[in-house]
Amino acid sequence: MVLSGHVQPDADALGSTLALARGLRALGARVVATFPGPFTLPESLRWLPGADTLVPSTDVPPSPDVFVSVDASSTGRLGELAALLEAAGTSVVVDHHASNPGFGDVRVIAPDAAATVVLVAALLDGLAVHWDADLAACLYAGLTADTGSFRFGNTAPGTHELAARLLRTGIDHAAISQRLFDTAPFGWLRLLSLVTGRARLEPAVGAGLVWTWATTGEARGCGLAEDQLEALVDVVRATREADVACVLKGQDDGSWVVSLRSRGATDVARVAGGFGGGGHRAAAGYTSRLDCEATIAALVATLRATGR
Ligand code: MN
Repeated sequence: MVLSGHVQPDADALGSTLALARGLRALGARVVATFPGPFTLPESLRWLPGADTLVPSTDVPPSPDVFVSVDASSTGRLGELAALLEAAGTSVVVDHHASNPGFGDVRVIAPDAAATVVLVAALLDGLAVHWDADLAACLYAGLTADTGSFRFGNTAPGTHELAARLLRTGIDHAAISQRLFDTAPFGWLRLLSLVTGRARLEPAVGAGLVWTWATTGEARGCGLAEDQLEALVDVVRATREADVACVLKGQDDGSWVVSLRSRGATDVARVAGGFGGGGHRAAAGYTSRLDCEATIAALVATLRATGR
């Protein structure tokens, strides 16, 4: 059995993968846990219990009995592992993205779930797996990340009930949150000053747009891993005058990965979908092959046409 999250895995993808792997192994299943793309974990996620058992996608059996995709909103997000959807005896898709078109033989897809770990928790319960603190830490990481520490609108009473159950296993939730959200090298401050210093506010575009950009080269220049660019949009999206926040992240191949956040009035999953991407109503993204100016111009045109 092969388990995988999406490219550039986040806390929900890895937490789901590792919790499910741990639970299935406890039942005696032979499980290979992996993720597509370069075999590098964000530093903020290397502490996840079981992260040392992950293997590179190149070491995965090509036609397993079962392939489980977790937190991947489309086949494209599985990168080179998308081939396993067909090659496996049975493919299972566990996901919570509203933009998921539906793929795989068995589909556990619930857009109202706050995180994929919520669905994994239900699956583990269905299998009568005992939750130890290591398994709970994986689930909690995904839950607190995808709910923005229980601040986002996807947080429901059941979200807190799940969190309470996880805390009762004895996990150190404060340490988990500090590792996930409040730890960065000093160079992060340098990068923030660059990126916030050139932010632009366009209050008349749609319900208001704030945008800025950064490149992987700039991240390296500040002594940071490229994945540190992911957290920039969480700073930018606080801008009161703009409903939509956008960070364009320049990749080494010249493409731009566009992160979008909405304060509530704009469905950015629809906007991203128009550019071949996807995500959630309040958080979505896509990749642009245009240059920076043309990428933002196309986004501005779309937001103007959408109104809100
Ligand atoms: Mn997720």
